[in-house]
Amino acid sequence: MSSIKFKYGKSIWDIYQIKKSFINNNNFFLKRQNEVAKLYKKQPLRKQCKACGKKISKKIIKSHNVQYSICIYCTHLNGLYDDTKKFTDAVYTGKIGQKYSSRYQEKSIKNYINRQNKIYDPKVKFLKDFFKKRKNLPSTIDIGTGSGYFVSSLIKHGFKDSKGVDISHEQIQYAKNVFKKLKINPENLDTLAQNEILPYVKNSRTELLTLIGVLEHMYYPNKFLKIVKQNKNIKYLYICVPLYSLSVLVESCFNNVHNKHLGGTHTHLFTERSLKNMLKKNNFISVAEWWFGSDIMDLFRHIEVFSMENNNLDIIEKLESYKKIIDNLQLELDKKKLSSSIHILFKRQN
Ligand SMILES: [Zn+2]
Repeated sequence: MSSIKFKYGKSIWDIYQIKKSFINNNNFFLKRQNEVAKLYKKQPLRKQCKACGKKISKKIIKSHNVQYSICIYCTHLNGLYDDTKKFTDAVYTGKIGQKYSSRYQEKSIKNYINRQNKIYDPKVKFLKDFFKKRKNLPSTIDIGTGSGYFVSSLIKHGFKDSKGVDISHEQIQYAKNVFKKLKINPENLDTLAQNEILPYVKNSRTELLTLIGVLEHMYYPNKFLKIVKQNKNIKYLYICVPLYSLSVLVESCFNNVHNKHLGGTHTHLFTERSLKNMLKKNNFISVAEWWFGSDIMDLFRHIEVFSMENNNLDIIEKLESYKKIIDNLQLELDKKKLSSSIHILFKRQN
């Protein structure tokens, strides 16, 4: 039996300023979310659970006028419609996608470094801590690297052989320019077409693949993991995904506040069970887990936006007194593994 390394909690104040844009730009994000939902509801019905592949069951919940089903076999949360290739192309690389990527592109290098320090460095440090007894850190490919934050952070922390790939040419071009300014080799980044990803992973000699907020966006997660299973060079998978959690419950109550967890490009959500089952089927088991979420921050965001829109400003003032204990409240959820997201390192069993 192997023992899992656990970590719980992370202060929300590290990223409070960055996340503040979700409050100030609510209408922009809400509009985009509704645009994506409109397209999503035109897709064919989803027949199989995205995680376990079994038939979609009936138990239905609703959020922002989109319906979702909870899998009776693995507890995964599935939107009733499929995220087809057409849908994926439109929301990531098409017109909607270009609007989407802009939120990760900082206007200055200083802001880029700040975002990297606050959001991505902690993720890498957790990973590095696991490998601290090893002489050499593993070679790494960051799948869906977007604007390259995670790769930049990996290299900064001594993961020398690190590469990043993404299907968005625009984001990779942006990231390459940033890398030049940061004196990191831009050749570490590459654009891959949608149909090049699986062959790329199949032929990879890399020991560790990282998927930071990516697995939930893939329209072929099981196919992807099957390829990973077959390529025995890959020994570790580091995955960060949003989870079906309190954040989702809060979101389902406020139609005028945009969703960060369910909705938009998130057409399905993992639970601890659905994620681990899916990986276990492909011979990977959890060896390290970091549980922290933004559930309480999300709850407060909803109260704040809703109260602002209704000109109920004293409510926002009252909310301030609860903000002081936001980390304490969240930590209680994290310790019970009820967080809105998980960082988890999986290791190949054989
Ligand atoms: Zn399922």
